[in-house]
Amino acid sequence: MDLAELLEEIAREVRPYFGKGRVASYIPALRRVPATKFGMAVSMVDGREFTVGDVDEKFSIQSISKLLTLMLAMSIRGDEVWRRVGKEPSGTPFNSLVQLEYEKGVPRNPFINAGALVVLDCVMARTGKETTQVILDYARVLSRDFSVDYNAKVAASELRAAHRNAAIANLLRCHKTIRHDPGDLLSAYCHQCSLEMSCSDLARTFLPLANAGVSPILEEAVLTDRQARRINALMMTCGMYDSVGSFAFRVGLPAKSGVGGGIVAVVPRQCCIAVWSPELDRSGNSLVGTAALELFVRMTKMSIL
Ligand code: GLN
Repeated sequence: MDLAELLEEIAREVRPYFGKGRVASYIPALRRVPATKFGMAVSMVDGREFTVGDVDEKFSIQSISKLLTLMLAMSIRGDEVWRRVGKEPSGTPFNSLVQLEYEKGVPRNPFINAGALVVLDCVMARTGKETTQVILDYARVLSRDFSVDYNAKVAASELRAAHRNAAIANLLRCHKTIRHDPGDLLSAYCHQCSLEMSCSDLARTFLPLANAGVSPILEEAVLTDRQARRINALMMTCGMYDSVGSFAFRVGLPAKSGVGGGIVAVVPRQCCIAVWSPELDRSGNSLVGTAALELFVRMTKMSIL
């Protein structure tokens, strides 16, 4: 099977889906992204890379950053993370407050906003350097792209619009699930959401999850085998907002999405796939991106199910 040709075919087949979703509109910078952008990159564990479309264009990774900070937190804090955040799907929107209050300030999982704030608190606790710089360095090293950066405008407008996330951070502090100042945490969180990376960057960055924790690019373990498996399990059960079940039904791969229209999916022992298309479905996942992954799995039979 020629993966390069297959990606070209997928790019052709998803065209009818454009116009069926809606670009995120809660901040101006995201609203302005052209809706018809499409890129797909596949990084194989043997080092080969296949791409189609706008794969080198950087976009706002948004909630995909939760995957990055979870890897970082687990690599520096180990199992401590699991004493402060759960491992169950939430079944509620990613920024829900109700469940957090009900469950005494322990977030259901690391991929809802409350969980991501706790994960970030774990990263903050151990590092002397500015947390935002530590996260940026980690993204640059894993992607092998030293031009990866935050978008200061996006971070600032995220922060201005972060009333609900501020409430979540304060509630977490009330319950003592976080140790740092909720304001500092919120600012770092808005920065992590504003990270801009391309599909090629993302497929390289998360390739260790397909390779038992080892980065074939750096030729070193960034996670243990067990940690990588655990992260994949969490992506499978909690990575796609509250439509994780229908995503598993259609695609059947561990994946994490962001409202910038990116999705990262992992095929254990084979490859990491990153796809980007800004129009979102009703759950906040890339509509065309999901369709592209569904086609990829159907054509390659690279499913874990
Ligand atoms: N930055 C936004 C928030 O935290 C959206 C993150 C996401 O991709 N769901 O509310």
